[in-house]
Amino acid sequence: AHIKKIDEVDGDINAFITLTREEALKQADEIDRKIKDGESIGSLAGIPIGIKDNIVTRNIKTTCGSKILENFIPPYDAAVIEKIKGKDGIILGKTNMDEFAMGSSTETSYFGSTKNPIDLERVPGGSSGGSAAAVKAGEVALSLGSETGGSVREPASFCGLVGIKPTYGLVSRYGVIPMANSLDQVGVFGRDVADAALMLSGIAGYDIKDSTSMKVEDTDYLTKLAEDIKGMRIGLPKEYFNIDMDKRVKEEVLKAVKVFEKLGGEVEEISLPYAEYGLPTYYIIATSEISSNLARFDGIRYGYRSKDYSSLDEIYINTRSEGFGEEVKRRIMLGTYALSSGYHDAYYKKAQRVRTLIKKDFDEAFKKYDIILSPTVPTLPFKLGEKIEDPLAMYMSDLMTVSVNLAGICALSMPCGMVEGLPVGLQIIGDRFKEMNILKAAYAFE
Ligand code: GLN
Repeated sequence: AHIKKIDEVDGDINAFITLTREEALKQADEIDRKIKDGESIGSLAGIPIGIKDNIVTRNIKTTCGSKILENFIPPYDAAVIEKIKGKDGIILGKTNMDEFAMGSSTETSYFGSTKNPIDLERVPGGSSGGSAAAVKAGEVALSLGSETGGSVREPASFCGLVGIKPTYGLVSRYGVIPMANSLDQVGVFGRDVADAALMLSGIAGYDIKDSTSMKVEDTDYLTKLAEDIKGMRIGLPKEYFNIDMDKRVKEEVLKAVKVFEKLGGEVEEISLPYAEYGLPTYYIIATSEISSNLARFDGIRYGYRSKDYSSLDEIYINTRSEGFGEEVKRRIMLGTYALSSGYHDAYYKKAQRVRTLIKKDFDEAFKKYDIILSPTVPTLPFKLGEKIEDPLAMYMSDLMTVSVNLAGICALSMPCGMVEGLPVGLQIIGDRFKEMNILKAAYAFE
């Protein structure tokens, strides 16, 4: 049924870069056989899953939405892929994304924009727009995205889905092509809270191959979902409500807050004094790490190589000039500048210090509160082409998501209302490894 759906709608939506239908059908047959033979099956058995194309898959093209990796076929599976296969999940294909996960609209992909299934004239959000659109359109039941500064929560908000950004260290990054290592984390999409919780349980857990992976005891996010949230302490950061945003978004989120009060939550206004520095801090740290990470795409080791060169330097220069898109080049230049001698202290080092202050804001808040609520994105899903020529306007979409990545904590976005047929996302933020708090709250609200 899902493959049929892909055939019907993906020509319009463009959620996929690569489809793996033959392998998927073989896998489905194997699960059938297991059931017939009375063998046990995994927790994701038979579920069609989409994978963002920056997560490496053995013998399946992995492009990062870039010309430079257009024909790159990895020789191994990422840890999360091994987990999905081990639990009998069925991978239906690799989904479209902003090039190297840089963007908030999935318009910077070399393979063309993905459209929002709710309104084909609008963006699905980004950078994991393909993964979100595929779930929304019914092409897969679950999907994986990645988060560096909101790339799961923002498309979840724009496509009316549940999207989770787990605590840094909960999910292995082994085999996830890095954008900014200190911020990156694999995230999940589901049609509802229980679906997303199932997907998260499927991929969470310690991995010796990721040095930043943490040993966490309980990664079963399903059994406690329905627990009461009476007495849950809820903070509303005034800095996230008093910014310049679409009033209709704010109204829908404030209505949601009322529902939490009815459910027995104790809601209070709080302050996160360093919130306003989140966006500039993120764009200095992220671009710095990007400029260093993307040095590996040199025309020698992976993927594309320019045909036009007469020296080693020209291989590098021409390959990168031809292989990377505009946004990627912009960030390499910004990051190289922020890290360069003479500017390093004023930009990179300063940003690292502010990052600590932002983290401390959340540490203080979580001494008194279990969860924090805010809008996910300050606007409704915007039109294709509306912001692509204006990078700063595009960056502003990340205003309320990036601090969570800087602090390494967890958050999710879920639908909380509609405005003129377009979904509004509610962000629920939790402390490090307190995924259960945000999931219980989301489930009670749903
Ligand atoms: N929109 C943000 C950016 O462009 C977030 C990207 C992400 O989370 N991968 O940096």
